[in-house]
Amino acid sequence: MIIVIGAGLVGLSTAYELAKRGADVHVVEAYDSAASASWAGAGRLAPFTDSEGGNEQEDFLASALGLYQVFVKELHKRTGIDPYLRIDGIIEVAQDEFAVVRLRERAGSLVARGIHAHWLEPDEVRRLEPSLGAATLGASLIEDEGQIDNRQLGQALRAACVDVGVKLEEQTGPVSLEADERRVLGVRAGANFVAADEVVNAAGAWAGELRGVPAHVRISIVPVKGQLLTLRMPVRLVTRLVSVPGAYLIPRTDGTLLIGETVEEAGFDVRVDPAATQHLRDAAVRAMPALGDLAIDETWAGLRPRSPNGRPFIGATALEGYFVAAGHYRNGILLAPATALAVANVIEGKTS
Ligand SMILES: Cc1cc2nc3c(=O)[nH]c(=O)nc-3n(C[C@H](O)[C@H](O)[C@H](O)COP(=O)(O)OP(=O)(O)OC[C@H]3O[C@@H](n4cnc5c(N)ncnc54)[C@H](O)[C@@H]3O)c2cc1C
Repeated sequence: MIIVIGAGLVGLSTAYELAKRGADVHVVEAYDSAASASWAGAGRLAPFTDSEGGNEQEDFLASALGLYQVFVKELHKRTGIDPYLRIDGIIEVAQDEFAVVRLRERAGSLVARGIHAHWLEPDEVRRLEPSLGAATLGASLIEDEGQIDNRQLGQALRAACVDVGVKLEEQTGPVSLEADERRVLGVRAGANFVAADEVVNAAGAWAGELRGVPAHVRISIVPVKGQLLTLRMPVRLVTRLVSVPGAYLIPRTDGTLLIGETVEEAGFDVRVDPAATQHLRDAAVRAMPALGDLAIDETWAGLRPRSPNGRPFIGATALEGYFVAAGHYRNGILLAPATALAVANVIEGKTS
């Protein structure tokens, strides 16, 4: 049996892939999906906009996005739950001359790499997004990017996991790993021990805290807090994902407008600070004054899992039977299906 620790998108995608390949898979979740970054995240599918990596990292994310579309179509068909995947481009707005130069050059360099990117003059971008105000000096549009409703995706994945026979146990409290000096033995939840041949640590921002992990295979993960809010948007004032200085705006299919996000190192604190969400809202209203009339629908915070070099740990460890899929930082929603394939391939290679 394979135990996956954590029912975020990474854990569930991995469990789904392994079960489809015939494995007996058990997912253990300390709380429920609302505790996870996968529920709290924004659902941007953006290999290029706001990129913090170089060309190689961007190309990796872009190829993961190709895989994504197939994955989401399969889940939708299997479960009837639509995760509202939209690859309709991301607009990034310039509000000063420095940003005009930067974004224009960036669009040009992406085109040279074969990516569908454009520089848009103010009248052109306002034709696409008429709510953009006078502060708009132009924008880049990267067509090969988009968004997904990550909460809907989580629902679809849970249903798909059940459909392929994954056993999902929630509200276990934090489980710990059991291992001898040679290999993994299973996991322990309170007084209960469950034996396993393989254990996958998909515990997100808590992956470095997992108890029972021998020192030589422990990983270091820093939780990076993000706060967001949604506004009720009775009329569609924003039609696609728009990044503006200090915030990004994501129109959801349910008629809300998501505004994100702070980036803070605050340990495991997930309290919402009204001043922080107000700051995000102010940035949005500066770019689109009409948003000033909309009421706040919801505010929340989540924890991104960041590794020391910003790249995820994916694969086997020096402890037999112990695998890690954690540390996806700001791209874990995008990278979940690619991670699932990678982990399943490694486990198959190890066990066959
Ligand atoms: C504000 C914010 C915005 C984001 N925006 C985007 C975005 O636009 N695009 C994108 O691609 N990514 C985004 N991300 C990042 C993305 O959400 C994460 O990288 C991804 O969700 C991580 O998934 P995961 O399954 O590894 O971890 P999580 O989703 O955090 O799931 C881990 C689960 O493990 C459980 N767990 C932890 N310890 C234990 C234990 N000991 N025993 C049992 N269970 C345990 C937790 O309760 C949790 O449910 C964002 C994140 C945040 C917080």
